[in-house]
Amino acid sequence: MKIQYKELSFWEKLYLPAIVKGLSITLKHLFMWPKFTMQYPEEKPEPGPRFRGFPKLVKDKEGHPKCVACGLCAAVCPPHAITLQAEETEELSWERTPVSFEIDMGRCILCGMCEEACPVEAIVLSDTYELVINDTRKWVFEIDKLLEDWEGKETELFLKNRK
Ligand code: SF4
Ligand code: SF4
Repeated sequence: MKIQYKELSFWEKLYLPAIVKGLSITLKHLFMWPKFTMQYPEEKPEPGPRFRGFPKLVKDKEGHPKCVACGLCAAVCPPHAITLQAEETEELSWERTPVSFEIDMGRCILCGMCEEACPVEAIVLSDTYELVINDTRKWVFEIDKLLEDWEGKETELFLKNRK
């Protein structure tokens, strides 16, 4: 079968109109359209209200962990990143509190199942998306670290954003 090619016109043979058209699109992107590139890590993107970052524990107004040590989060966690131990307490208005609560951030896949399962909103996925730790042993966050206000942000803020 013989293929019929379209004959190029004089201007098409010059390629100039195509080059000018291509450059005009480049110039439009340079000067007229908004810039989406950020100079990360100097400029940090602000996550949206529904963003799910690394999980952390929530404190009540007196500073106690809201966790009632029911173990549901550990049971649903797909990569088994959560381990906790409970003890009975008489100091609080609920019966059990965690003596230890650890999350292996190296295993966490930020799925949010722990937040969904928790009956008392005691664990929440924060908007922290960067944790750079070279030593893998330090990826296991203990209860004190999980209760800290990371980057100075109150955990209540993350919960409010979920509503
Ligand atoms: S976000 Fe998912 S993987 Fe991470 S601790 Fe919670 S349940 Fe486990
Ligand atoms: S599901 Fe909530 S209350 Fe139960 S152990 Fe996990 S964080 Fe604590």
